[in-house]
Amino acid sequence: MSEQIAVQIQSPSGLSCLRCDFALPLGDHDAGCPRCAAEEHASNLRLVFRGAAQGRIVLPPTGGISLGEGGTPQVEAPDLAAEAGLGRLSLKLEWCNPTGSHKDRMSAPLLARARERGATLVAAASSGNAGVSLAAYAARAGLAAEIATTPSMPDGARRAIRATGARLVEVADTAARWEHVGRLAAEGAFAATNYRRPALGTNPFGIAGYKALAAEIAADGLPDLVVVPCARGDLLSGLLLGFQELGRGMPRLVAVEPFPRLARVLAGADYRESFPGRTAQLSIGGDTVTFQALHALRESRGTAVVVDDAAARAAQMRLGRAGLHAELSAAAGVAALSVLGAEGALTGRHAVAVLTGSGAGAMDAPTDTNPFDQRGPR
Ligand SMILES: [Zn+2]
Repeated sequence: MSEQIAVQIQSPSGLSCLRCDFALPLGDHDAGCPRCAAEEHASNLRLVFRGAAQGRIVLPPTGGISLGEGGTPQVEAPDLAAEAGLGRLSLKLEWCNPTGSHKDRMSAPLLARARERGATLVAAASSGNAGVSLAAYAARAGLAAEIATTPSMPDGARRAIRATGARLVEVADTAARWEHVGRLAAEGAFAATNYRRPALGTNPFGIAGYKALAAEIAADGLPDLVVVPCARGDLLSGLLLGFQELGRGMPRLVAVEPFPRLARVLAGADYRESFPGRTAQLSIGGDTVTFQALHALRESRGTAVVVDDAAARAAQMRLGRAGLHAELSAAAGVAALSVLGAEGALTGRHAVAVLTGSGAGAMDAPTDTNPFDQRGPR
């Protein structure tokens, strides 16, 4: 019943700024738009594809660097839909990507760009999924990778990164992680993640990879809203760009965050501020907001929903009973729908929740006590 996915591969002709539309020749600008940077308004750029056909997603070539990413299953969840007051709920199982998360869609074009630029080392700051994915795609591309992380990285992610031959460097905290990548970038490494403050997001080549997710979602029927776990907003931004290119209508993009960051910016705070908070939802932690995330919410008339760890755990258990073991930050998307449903905002609507990673994957540390165990007969 799903339509053909409308995707075209084409080399980009340049870049433009998400915030001020400034046009630049193709290049890699780790500080984002130079004009916005001069005004101290960090903003990411996007790829421009001159002469691209309308109504299609245009992706940059990956130069054969692929592990089979994309084309993930989208399954219906009628019981969960009814509980949230939705007409239809579809779950996009992004953990079916080769290294277990949506990040693979980003890694393929990023590594192609790194190789095209003649980089010999790819540097990244990661709490888990991005590092696992980038290390694997670097190995596939024949490039060395160095992943900077903090003590909170789960053992599964460490094993997965080391298995590729990538170097894993542990530093004290997120700030030190970004400093480490910044030093490597200054020495000529290709930066495959954000490392700047105020944060920008990832190189636009990587973000373009997420446009394919928008095409896949739209091929199963354009939803009213898409729920996206959000840290720096790479996925959110890529989805916005994808739905814009498709031109079939814009779903409301809902950013899910573990403590108020975007929610505070939408309420009037400056996106360049720091928004500290602690969370077990490692994939969407951190104290920064990006312009690209804010832009995606504004352009899609979307919103941000805060889901604390307790609500994310409850949603993780609920999904488990539906046969789906999501990582905590992915389950948070389903919890966000309960919040919006309780506000009566979802009646009869079709939502897609992007389940970015699996609970059985690299990111969730095993818990000492399984909540299910306590309920069974002893
Ligand atoms: Zn700009």
